[in-house]
Amino acid sequence: MIIKEGLCIGCGNCVLICPINAIKMIENKAIINDSLCVECNVCYRNAKCPVKAIRPKRLKWPRLVRNPFSDVVSTHKLTGVPGRGTEEMKTNDITNRFGLGEIGISIELGRPGVGTCLKNVDLFVKPLTKIGVEYEEASPITALLSEDRTKIKEDIKNERVLSAIIEFKIPYEKIDSVIKIISEVEKKIDTVFTVGVISRVLSGKEIPIIDILAKKGYQINPNAKVNIGLGKV
Ligand code: SF4
Ligand code: SF4
Repeated sequence: MIIKEGLCIGCGNCVLICPINAIKMIENKAIINDSLCVECNVCYRNAKCPVKAIRPKRLKWPRLVRNPFSDVVSTHKLTGVPGRGTEEMKTNDITNRFGLGEIGISIELGRPGVGTCLKNVDLFVKPLTKIGVEYEEASPITALLSEDRTKIKEDIKNERVLSAIIEFKIPYEKIDSVIKIISEVEKKIDTVFTVGVISRVLSGKEIPIIDILAKKGYQINPNAKVNIGLGKV
């Protein structure tokens, strides 16, 4: 994104609206910090710049990768849907992606309001690959991993995005190893992250993972997704 400095009248609209504070006012002119900007287009679409000084620029690789991970209306080429992850956790009753005895995990880096450098993904995938998690093939982040799935591809590792979601599944027995990895990464990562746990509800309405995690001291706030047929293939 660029701001035509000569046009800017310093109203401040864009400064307030940037989700990661990448725009600063310097001598009454709005200036974008190019390395922080995640190319989300929020300022262009929503700042209502009175002089139309905000313009998207044509992005080239590797910077191009920032947009689909940051702009909610941008459709990712791999998933075919807008957004940073897949629909699997929302459509599981149709797709059966996560079966009985399995847990889906999503780790979302960078949200809210901070963003993340893509190389932060390495902190998780290096140890997760070692314990043999099964990555979601349709997830945009899976597609950007190296062949051995121990790191993000070299040419994009320094790109910043609004959020990146690592999606994978494990059998119940691996939950301790995954929690250990998450706790270790938490001590050294320089951004925020959220962990989602996806589980089927059993016929007796039990959700065993809630009790398993409660015994380890984690309080779960269940959030049910009811599918109305949108996941049918
Ligand atoms: S494109 Fe997004 S991140 Fe970049 S300056 Fe505009 S609002 Fe901020
Ligand atoms: S919205 Fe437009 S005029 Fe206002 S500070 Fe931003 S670039 Fe300048």
